[in-house]
This record gives sequence, C-alpha cells and structure tokens, in this order.
Amino acid sequence: MSDSSAAPEPTAPRLRVAPSPTGDPHVGTAYMAVFNLAFARKHGGQFVLRIEDTDRARFNATSEQQLYDTLGWLGLTWDEGPDVGGPCAPYRQSERLDTYRPYVEALIESGHAYYCWCSSERLAQMREKQQKLKLPTGYDRLCHGKTKEERAQLEGFNEDPVVRMYVPDDAPTHFEDVIRGTVSAPRPDDQVILKADGFPTYHLAVVVDDHEMGITHVVRGEEWISSTPKHVLLYEWLGFEPPKFAHMPLLRNENKSKISKRKNPWARLTWFEEAGYLPEAVVNFLGLLAYPPAKGEGGADVEKFSFEAFSEDFDWAKVNKVGPIFDLKKLDWLNGQYIRDLELDDLAARLLPFLQQDGVLGEEPGREDLAKLEAIGEQIRPRMQLLTEATDLVKPFFVADADLEIADDARAALKDNAPEVIDAALTALADVTWEAAEIEAALRGAIVDGMGIKPRLAFGPLRTAVSGRKVSPPLFESMEILGRESTLARLRSLRSSLG
Ligand code: GLU
Repeated sequence: MSDSSAAPEPTAPRLRVAPSPTGDPHVGTAYMAVFNLAFARKHGGQFVLRIEDTDRARFNATSEQQLYDTLGWLGLTWDEGPDVGGPCAPYRQSERLDTYRPYVEALIESGHAYYCWCSSERLAQMREKQQKLKLPTGYDRLCHGKTKEERAQLEGFNEDPVVRMYVPDDAPTHFEDVIRGTVSAPRPDDQVILKADGFPTYHLAVVVDDHEMGITHVVRGEEWISSTPKHVLLYEWLGFEPPKFAHMPLLRNENKSKISKRKNPWARLTWFEEAGYLPEAVVNFLGLLAYPPAKGEGGADVEKFSFEAFSEDFDWAKVNKVGPIFDLKKLDWLNGQYIRDLELDDLAARLLPFLQQDGVLGEEPGREDLAKLEAIGEQIRPRMQLLTEATDLVKPFFVADADLEIADDARAALKDNAPEVIDAALTALADVTWEAAEIEAALRGAIVDGMGIKPRLAFGPLRTAVSGRKVSPPLFESMEILGRESTLARLRSLRSSLG
C-alpha cells in the first residue's frame, strides 16, 4: 500500500471528472467538467480526467476516445489524464488494480471488510424474501465471520468471493456538501468493494483514486449523494483526509424527467457538434444551467459569457440546488448569438465541414470559393442559429447556373406578372455597376417605381430565379456575390421556363 503521505500535497485545488466509458459520452459529463474546471481555473488548480472503467460488463471500447474528442471539442481541457499522462498515472482504473488490492487487504485485516461467497441466486432469493416480509433490503451477512470452509457447508456458495464493507449500525448518514450544506442520505448497505473478477467496484476505486490523486473537491451529479456515506466511511477506515463534496443538480427535460441517452438525442455529447452548435455556446449553456447569468451594465442579466469570465466569477454559493431544465430553445438562441459574433473567416472555417459533408464544397476549396463563402457568411450570419442551417442557404451560390433547381413551392408562389417583372429586371440590370446598392436602386426604379408593383411582390420572382427558393439571403447582396453573368443567366433561365 502506498503511504498516504505520498499523495501529492495540494497547494491549489485539484478536481476531476471521472466518466465511465460505457457508451456515447453523456452530456452530464461535460456539465460536470464545466463546473470542476471553472473552480480549478479560478484558483490556479488542476483538472484531472480519470477513466473509471472497472465495470467490464458495460465497457465500450470507442467510448474513451469519444470522451477525449467531445471534451476536447468543447475546450474543457484537462491537465492530467490517460492520454496526456501526469504525476498520478495511470489514470485508467483498469490499469490500477495493483493499487486497490492492498487497501482491500487492509480493510479485511482491520475488520471493516469481509469476504462474501454468496451466489447471485442466493442473493436474489434473499432480496425476494426481504421484500415479501417488508424487511429492509440489504445483505444479511451470512458470510460475515465465516471461513471459506465454514461457508462452503451452507447453501448458495460461490467459489470466487467478493469483498464487502462491514457497515456499522451507527454509520454516519450525514455529510457536508459545498453546495447544499448538511445532506442526509440513506444508511449504506454492506456494499461490495471488490468483485469476484478482481476489479474494485466504483465505491472503492473512487475513494482510493481521489485520495491517491490528491483530489481536494469531488464535484459530481446529485445521483451520487446516496453513495457518499459509503465513501466517507472508507475515507475514515483507510485513514485518508476526505475531500470536499459538491453535488450538482441533475439536468432535467422540460417535463422534469431525467435526460436519457435512449430518449433524448441531446443527452449524447457527440450530438451537439453534429447538430451545428458552437462549442463555446454549449459550454456557456451548460454553465448557465446551474449558475445565474452574469451582471452587465445597470445590473442587467447577461446570459452570454465566456468560460474565462464564468470561471473568474465562480462561487459555489451561486450554484443552483434545483434540477435545471435543459431548454434547447435557449441553447439555439445562445448559439445564434455566438454565430453573430464570429469573424467571417472563422464562420467560414466552421461552416466548411458541414458544407463539405453535404457536398456543397469539395475537399479542398480554392481561395475564391472561400472568399465567396465569407461574403455569403456575412449575409447569413445574422439569420442563423445552427451551423447546419447553412447548407440550404449557401448551396445555390455554388451550383452551376444550369443545375439550379427551382423548388416547387417557390415556383407555385410565382404570380402571373412574374415574366414582366423578370423582363424588367433584365433590362434594368443590363449595364448597372455590379454592387448591391446599385443593383437595388436599378431594380426598385424599374419594378417598384416603374411598374407600380409593391416591393414584396416585385422581388419574389427574382429571388426565386437567383436562389431557387422562396427564402434566401438578402437578394441584392446575393446578386452581387453571384456576379452579373450568373445572375442574368438565372433570370433568363426562369424567364424562359415561364413561356
Ligand atoms: N464514474 C462515475 C460516473 O460515471 C463518477 C462519479 C463520481 O464523479 O464520483 O459518473
């Protein structure tokens, strides 16, 4: 066993997230990372990523990489972890089995833990009986105080034992929580700490690792409140100084149900990038879920804040205790705000992967295409909430004139006077200087003033000709970006299809 004095002496806080790689990473992992990291950064501490992979039945091999990718994408970077190493390596629990063993032996030695050989059938029967008799459920300690030979004489014996905690009747069920004050939790059962496969359970591993890694604050979801008294006992028995505990409120859907990966796509952390969110908007949103908006001028609420500002202001006293509602509309709005504030080259770079994936742009777009994309970006930037909305808006600018498809609803909306409107536009645009303001003046003069057609009806057919859609980026700017030749070709093409 390593001497507890060997644990890193924390001069600054050390926090961690400790996800289990059991499938697509859950959004809750990022939510925890945001709060852990904010506190660590505020106090110049460290943030550790530990992989809790002791549940071999639920282990999923791709999950760990997805954790790195999604947390990395969000910019919630860790100072130590399996991929980057650090002074407390290894950071993967499956590689730390030798670390846990001596602690288990010490607990058995001191009488705080014991072997249990009960088969799963026996445990199931025991539980059934307890439920029928309305007795408190929990292990009945059949194995306690027995040698293997003694126990083998009795029914429901399993050759490979587990190790259980021996929880005294007067075990404390209260603990201090940084967010919640004094918290009470149910009295623990004789929890298994070492499984028959030689792997520790979460409860033992989390305590040993948080101690050995010098973790000062355990910040995790409120679903772990009921486990904390077990952990407090283990800290005491092993002679470790317990960390501070902070249990964050659980994220909920609008109907108050728990966010589940099975029912809610946004429970999967990989979803946000695919759905067209910006990582900085997602981090802001996750912070806002359990933290009040910042204060702006005159004390007004400011919901858009950078992670740096959030972390500078961070204070546990401000964290919500009630389960926050995961309001996607708020996230969409926030994402739109972030998109509006992007520089054009940044916006183009973020749009590019979506446009490539949707076949609008090729693998290596040329400088001209990128400049065009920036120009289009300027037009669509105020109108977007999600990056995925760009494909429909951008595509018409990159298709050959002959390949532009006119959407059915756009064609159906054309009025009888569409041919005259287009003819007038063609004449008006023939030798105008090719700039949005000049284009607009010429078209207004010819169609609105000259023909007496209201602007809304005047420009509809032109928009349809140029973009193939009823809705497009601003018309005159679109024409400027598209260029004279393409604009006129598209107007002529729709005109000739109208007979
Ligand atoms: N491995 C646990 C989880 O997957 C970590 C809980 C904790 O932070 O203590 O959530």
